[in-house]
Amino acid sequence: MPHVLVLNASYEPLGVVPLRRALVLVLENKAVSLEESGAFLHSATRAMAAPSVVRLKRFVRVPYRGPVPLTRKALFARDGGRCMYCGGVATSVDHVVPRSRGGQHAWDNVVAACRRCNHVKADRHLRELGWRLHQQPAPPSGLAWRIIGTGHRDPRWLPYLQPYGADDAMARIDGGALSTAPVAN
Ligand SMILES: [Zn+2]
Repeated sequence: MPHVLVLNASYEPLGVVPLRRALVLVLENKAVSLEESGAFLHSATRAMAAPSVVRLKRFVRVPYRGPVPLTRKALFARDGGRCMYCGGVATSVDHVVPRSRGGQHAWDNVVAACRRCNHVKADRHLRELGWRLHQQPAPPSGLAWRIIGTGHRDPRWLPYLQPYGADDAMARIDGGALSTAPVAN
């Protein structure tokens, strides 16, 4: 099922919904289609262009949303799909300070890692191995990350996500291991 980017009336990205849900928003006159996917949906009486981006007609007040949720997909996007220790293709999530030694499952303590580094590192601290991170892990910022973290993507969304921190993220995704992830269309 394709997914559709939903924007607030202010053009702020709100989330990603299944196509069916987006169609209901448009048919109920709650949202307008800004971009079409190129596909058509046929009912008994008419054909309708499937939206790829919709914008709500009324502004929805969004409560403070806190940090970007830490998902595997968002983490891999932040780290470009690369192992943060050796630069190889990442296949796993590693806790820099091991959980068994009090490390938190938080943006500033997780990195994408390859199987080998993850295995070698096991439950040791970096200093015990003489390893160093080139970059200190940090939470990503920008609303676009909430969209990216869903794992759904569509090149048509990019112009709407760019003002919200997507440039960097999208570039990393396209250059990284996530390019093998399912594309939402
Ligand atoms: Zn590695």
